[in-house]
Amino acid sequence: MQGTLYIIPTPIGNLEDMTLRAIHVLKEVDLVLCEDTSVTQRLFKEYDIHTKTSVFFAQTKLKNIEKILKILEEGYRIALVSDAGTPTISDPGVLLVDRVKTELPDVKVIALPGASALTTALSASGITSAQFVFLGFLPHKKGRDTLFKEIAESKRTIIFYESVHRIEKTLDSLSKIILPPRKVAIARELTKMYEEVIRGDIKEVRLHFHKKKEKIRGEFVVIVEGK
Ligand code: SAM
Repeated sequence: MQGTLYIIPTPIGNLEDMTLRAIHVLKEVDLVLCEDTSVTQRLFKEYDIHTKTSVFFAQTKLKNIEKILKILEEGYRIALVSDAGTPTISDPGVLLVDRVKTELPDVKVIALPGASALTTALSASGITSAQFVFLGFLPHKKGRDTLFKEIAESKRTIIFYESVHRIEKTLDSLSKIILPPRKVAIARELTKMYEEVIRGDIKEVRLHFHKKKEKIRGEFVVIVEGK
């Protein structure tokens, strides 16, 4: 039997955003690797999934990765999920996929399409995705200023993830380098009850969050139009 590693996207807020195929595969595989068992168990309960889980996160030790490779080599089917969205997109898993691709040519890697804050935010923003650059999370200190300079000069749409702790600081920094009429969109709490996409020039967007402090809550994606 040929081992298979499935990459399975899970909802970024709304539990209904599971595909039928994702549910089916999670029920059928021999093992599900997840970041946090309690988060994954909530999803499993919703969809009556009873597959065995094991924790896998960015710091997973090499020894444990070896174990996973061995299981795949023996012909078992493993699915990888993260807490939310698509695994390997600013989430753990890329090292595992890389090792499988390099070392186990007989093991299939099958990625399912599905939820990701990246594509959901882009499609809701009305800012062109014809060409875009995804920066993941910006570094907190080293390299941060250089990236802001790159964003200022970019002819392509820029998109990055931001945490609730830094969103105001990031908007302050953007307001120094992005001049109107360049558009900025902040997608917040996508697919959840208080989801919104605030769009305008940087002054308008910054003012919106300054005036409504209660909106500095939840999860954010920042999109900046190219120059
Ligand atoms: N792999 C995930 C994906 O495909 O979307 C991203 C994981 S990354 C660790 C988490 C970041 O994604 C959050 O800090 C936030 O920037 C963004 N994010 C996740 N869910 C979101 C949501 N519902 N609304 C807005 N941003 C979200």
